[in-house]
Amino acid sequence: MSLQPQSKMIDEHGRYLPFVYPEEIPFWEATQQRQLKLQRCSDCHKVWYPIGSNCPHCFSMKWEWAVMSGRGVLHNYVVMHKAWTKWFESRVPYAVVQVELEEGARLTTNLLECDLKDIKIGMPVEACYEDIAPGITLLQFRPVK
Ligand SMILES: [Zn+2]
Repeated sequence: MSLQPQSKMIDEHGRYLPFVYPEEIPFWEATQQRQLKLQRCSDCHKVWYPIGSNCPHCFSMKWEWAVMSGRGVLHNYVVMHKAWTKWFESRVPYAVVQVELEEGARLTTNLLECDLKDIKIGMPVEACYEDIAPGITLLQFRPVK
């Protein structure tokens, strides 16, 4: 499916949907293909997230989209106990985590397939994907088994 910028922020079940900005379309097209693509600087070779117009490390405007390994470690997390919309009522409590990729970038995401009591800082995790709406596939993470 061709991905278009969209502005629908919440679906009929009360789940927040990502706002897809035009410059993010390569990221979202990659998640539909079960791939994680981030921007890599052509000068300092670092990767970053969130998506931006220039490298946040050296400010170079020369970069390319690059496929990441999808592997990393859990850098930090919080446990959410409040359901901000009806959709979250069946999910609380749930973890919001920061994953540090092997390539160095940190992403704020969800950890699936893991009991809250088993979450450990530094645990190895891998990318997984969740189709949540037509054209929208979320990047998520799960423990490496
Ligand atoms: Zn750079």
